[in-house]
Amino acid sequence: MTVLQNNLKKILSELSGKAKLLAVTKTVTSDTIRELYSLGQRDFGENRVKDLEIKANELKDLTDIRWHFIGNLQRKKVKDLFSIPNLYAIHSIDSQKLIDELIKRQDELTHDLKLFIQVNTSHEEQKSGFENINEITQALTTLSKSAKLKAIGLMTMATIRTQDQEAEALRCFKDLNQLKEDLGVQSLELSIGMSQDYQIALKVGTDWVRIGSLLYKS
Ligand SMILES: *Cc1c(COP(=O)(O)O)cnc(C)c1O
Repeated sequence: MTVLQNNLKKILSELSGKAKLLAVTKTVTSDTIRELYSLGQRDFGENRVKDLEIKANELKDLTDIRWHFIGNLQRKKVKDLFSIPNLYAIHSIDSQKLIDELIKRQDELTHDLKLFIQVNTSHEEQKSGFENINEITQALTTLSKSAKLKAIGLMTMATIRTQDQEAEALRCFKDLNQLKEDLGVQSLELSIGMSQDYQIALKVGTDWVRIGSLLYKS
């Protein structure tokens, strides 16, 4: 068994079907992605439009691969992102201005696109995302009128600069879960948890974990 195979198997057994694995591939090449695909993995995440464009085109032959964009998205890059083959979701919808741009260009999409609203639960200045529930409600309302853009979930990242990573991750993830309750939309999926804190995300209850480094650890 290869290291990758072993790591994937271990992570999937911990998720035990309760959460889906988004394999974050920003640090690996298309060859590694192909290997993960051959092991059954279908959902992959990248955080730069250019890198995603290159890899998605190199792997265009894998027609049922699902690409998730998870990084900061500049409005001027939306056009490029929309032309990427097998683009499935964006987890980093962080402003109404970005939503307006997506809606303006939605006719360029050849298929539906799933969106996660990014929420800044850590309240760190260097993190982007919505902080105000009224603004999120407004965002969901705008998107509900779109035929191609489907707001399906909420995403957050835990505090980075802290003495107590675990307690902060728990607080951030619980805050996101509470926000979902307050919004009153039970169908919203959660995208929380990375290599460092996915076990906490599983405890809180999540639909997606976004894991990179742990998959490639030797
Ligand atoms: C890189 C990244 C991840 C994965 O982080 P790891 O620590 O490598 O698991 C998850 N989410 C986002 C938004 C990322 O940029």
